[in-house]
Amino acid sequence: QFITFEGGEGTGKSTQAARLVAALKARGIDVVHTREPGGSPGAEDIRNIALNGDAGRWSPLTETMLMFAARSDHLEKTIRPALAAGRWIVCDRFADSSRAYQGAGGGTPADFIEALDAAIVGHDQPDLTLIFDLPVEVGLERALARGAGETRFESKGLEFHRRLRDGFLSVSAQHPERCRLIDATGEPDVVTERVWRAVEPILP
Ligand code: C5P
Repeated sequence: QFITFEGGEGTGKSTQAARLVAALKARGIDVVHTREPGGSPGAEDIRNIALNGDAGRWSPLTETMLMFAARSDHLEKTIRPALAAGRWIVCDRFADSSRAYQGAGGGTPADFIEALDAAIVGHDQPDLTLIFDLPVEVGLERALARGAGETRFESKGLEFHRRLRDGFLSVSAQHPERCRLIDATGEPDVVTERVWRAVEPILP
C-alpha cells in the first residue's frame, strides 16, 4: 500500500507519519518511511536546490518542474522498487503538495501539473492520502513556535497559506476515492487516533 501525508505548515503531519510507521511496523508490516521533496539521493539534492535561497528564486513553472524532477527520481529509486517488493510506503508529501503549493499557492496552471503527474506518476497513485487540515492561523502559530518554515514560509504571508489550505481541500474533494481529510486540531494523541481510523480499512 502507498500512503501519503499531505497538508500545510504546522499541521503535525510529519509527527503523525512517524507514529503511523511505528504502528504499522508493530503489526509486522514492512514499511518504508520517505518524504518529498527528496526520498532518494538525487531527489534530496534537488530538494536543496529547490528549497534553498530566497522565495522568489524560482518561477512557479520552474519550481513545479524541479518538484516533479525530484518526484521522478524518488519514484524510480525508492517508491516503485519498494512497492514491487511488496513493501508499504508512508510518504510525507507527494504530488498533492505540488497541486497545493505550486498550483493553488504559486499559480502554476492545473493542466500543466496534471500533465506532469500523468507522465511521471502515472498509475502509481497513492492508495490512501491523508490530508491534514487546520485553520491557517493555528498552523502558522505552531510552525513559528517550533521555529520551522524559515525564510520561504515567512515571506509567503497569510494569503499564500489560505490558498494552500483551499488547494488541499479541493484536492480532497476531487479525489474522494483516495483522500481522507484529517482534522489536525487538538492534541497529538487525538490526531493519531483519527489517523488510525482512516488507515484501519486498508490494514491486512
Ligand atoms: O514537509 P515540510 O513542511 O517539511 O516541507 C518543507 C517545505 O517544502 C514546505 O514548507 C514547502 O515550503 C516546501 N514545499 C514546496 N512544494 C512542494 C513540497 C514542499 O514548496 N511540492
